[in-house]
Amino acid sequence: MSFEALLEASHTYGSDARYVLLGGGNTSFKDGDLLYVKASGFALSTISEKGFVRMDLKQMEKIWEKTYSEDDDAREDEVLKDMMECRLEGETARPSVEALLHALLPFSYVVHLHPALINGVTCSQHGSSVVQRLFPDALWIELVKPGFILAKIVRERLSVQKQKTGNVSKVIFLQNHGVFVGGESLGEIESLYAGIMKVLEAELVRKPDFTALPMDEKKTASVVAQLESLTGEKIIPSYTKEYAHFLADTQKFASIASSFTPDHIVYSGFMPLWVGENDSVEKAFSAFEHSYGTKPKIVCVQNLGVFSIGEKPAPLFLDTVAVSVYSESFGGPRFMDDAMIDFIRNWEVEKYRSSVMVK
Ligand SMILES: [Zn+2]
Repeated sequence: MSFEALLEASHTYGSDARYVLLGGGNTSFKDGDLLYVKASGFALSTISEKGFVRMDLKQMEKIWEKTYSEDDDAREDEVLKDMMECRLEGETARPSVEALLHALLPFSYVVHLHPALINGVTCSQHGSSVVQRLFPDALWIELVKPGFILAKIVRERLSVQKQKTGNVSKVIFLQNHGVFVGGESLGEIESLYAGIMKVLEAELVRKPDFTALPMDEKKTASVVAQLESLTGEKIIPSYTKEYAHFLADTQKFASIASSFTPDHIVYSGFMPLWVGENDSVEKAFSAFEHSYGTKPKIVCVQNLGVFSIGEKPAPLFLDTVAVSVYSESFGGPRFMDDAMIDFIRNWEVEKYRSSVMVK
């Protein structure tokens, strides 16, 4: 057991597209009272020792004795301040917002990821019952505010579970978010992940097909030019078989038209812009800005293609589409509710994350 092993495993998960997109996910290792947990703003695939914060588990435990503000922003500020205080001397990086959860899981190693296939379940209509049926030993946590509230609820559930059964789950599915897997060795975690993926694969009625399709050159060039002048950003157009399926009409589009997880909001925006085949891109764009006070990060033009404003939104939007397709095998897509979407959009921690994220 060692921190070096965690570093290596972080690279492995981080470089595997089935498991990690952009900066998503985080890992940790406990050595006595010492917690090594991924800091904000680092990608698992390339993380070095500098990307981990060392924290004092004993001191983190004290956070649970405190009473924090009712107000969301104030509370998350206060908790973050206390978490910063739990860092070992000399640490400068900011712990991941999920560090509290890592701290309270009683396992030497914890690997938290947001794989599209797993989110096909956590972001589906039947998520809770599917988890109960396929993974009876796992814990299901319904949609709750990320950060302190999520950690608090998981802590309560684990303590109930411990009282009832004497054990706690090594696998925790979080609705509209992802999964936490803990173990005493990284090999154990690896086989738990492989097992989950295998069981879910066997349940699939359909898989996403991202085979590239040709785009109408003239129309594409015109949309790119309009979006470039509206945003000043590089525009990346793409079209695949799966995009063609969802861009056929507004009814199909509804299955990819909102946000599944916090990561989707941070990187590809809380909602893609729909532009009908004969509609004006400029008009639709300014109507979106007017309604929501922000520019879209993804523009979908009916039967033409997906346009990413800058390079970052594209992979997470592709993930949205993959999650939506996978969810078809589990009762269909289930987005975060509006209140949660607003909470994430306004959350300072997430703003920080999207501003410092390394590619
Ligand atoms: Zn997460």
